[in-house]
Amino acid sequence: MGDAAGVKTVVALGGEGIGVEVVDATCELLAAAGFPLRILTPPHGEAAQRSHGSPVPDETKRLCGAADGILFGAAGGPASVAVITYLRWQQDAYANVRPIKYYEGARSPLADPRGIDFVVLRENMEGLYPAREGDLAELARALPELRDHIGRRMGEYGEGRFAVKVVSRHGTERIARFACELALKRRDRGRPGKITCVTKSNVLVRSDGFFQEVVEGVVRQYAGLAFEHFYVDDASRRFVRFPQAMDVVLCMNLYGDILSDLAAEAAGGLGIAPSGCFGDRWAYFESVHGSAPDIAGQAIANPTATILSAAMMLEHMGLAAEAERLEAAVARVYRDGRRLTRDQGGTATTGEFCKAVLEALG
Ligand code: NAD
Repeated sequence: MGDAAGVKTVVALGGEGIGVEVVDATCELLAAAGFPLRILTPPHGEAAQRSHGSPVPDETKRLCGAADGILFGAAGGPASVAVITYLRWQQDAYANVRPIKYYEGARSPLADPRGIDFVVLRENMEGLYPAREGDLAELARALPELRDHIGRRMGEYGEGRFAVKVVSRHGTERIARFACELALKRRDRGRPGKITCVTKSNVLVRSDGFFQEVVEGVVRQYAGLAFEHFYVDDASRRFVRFPQAMDVVLCMNLYGDILSDLAAEAAGGLGIAPSGCFGDRWAYFESVHGSAPDIAGQAIANPTATILSAAMMLEHMGLAAEAERLEAAVARVYRDGRRLTRDQGGTATTGEFCKAVLEALG
């Protein structure tokens, strides 16, 4: 909903810990870059809980609903988790796109990370999230005949807890279609056009097996896309050994959560990994990392993940040229290597890194 002058509105919500630091620094960068944006920072999280009696006040929700782009920092405690609950779960943002890309100069632990450029696509609404848990006794009462694959009934475990994993046809088909559309877009940019599906279908035959089967069925409807499947343990090994062979890796929710941190680290570090969460008529953008209480308040957090998330947001908002300029500037700062943050082996503060990106924008 850009205005007549083409200025687009962004709502920035820092969340908690370093989330606030990296979002503030990124917003200053976007403003200093002169991009056509009006950036709003409405109350949310703990401060809003105190001032408005709610971590996501109605006015903040209204602004998010009307914005062209939403940039989130990170959650930690309950008040900032409530912000994610609103942005992700309540808006049905089912597709979490997590690009894994090596920038020359980034601190990858791999001997040769050149050419790593893939996406972990995490199914965001089902699987073991959002938690559905209870006491084993309840499960034994509700499903007295349920047995595991060695024949034990739930009542035979004694006291304990359970968590429910949900895999619906609707949820699986829509994420599979999203994966295919994403792979086609990437193919237009020279990538191979391949979906790698990750499950544990050898053990969770009915649930993960269903996910695998439905995904393969959808991918086969798209001419020109390749399909492969790996068990999650094998996939984790491949992310380290053959990351260049990946294109769009479609993971069930928890597997995607875990594997994307592993992949991010292989490509250069968690501080570099951006993401976007998409629903059918909704999107918001956030780094993959959390609130990092161990380094919060020290101005040393790497803002790259948030800057690259902002670049994804700009592209989504129709500002593709600005998005490309921003990503290219980040790449230049890594290539140059002189003003990197501590996690990347440098000494730059969050602000100094952003200044370097601003200068690299030209
Ligand atoms: P984390 O991602 O916050 O931090 C993991 C490690 O990576 C820490 O050592 C941290 O210092 C480092 N790190 C993370 N981001 C960095 C950056 N930008 N620059 C430099 N170093 C960085 O994960 P955690 O410590 O397991 O969790 C802390 C809190 O964050 C928890 O409450 C967790 O639930 C939450 N969390 C939130 C999200 C989210 O908001 N999407 C994601 C993951 C974790």
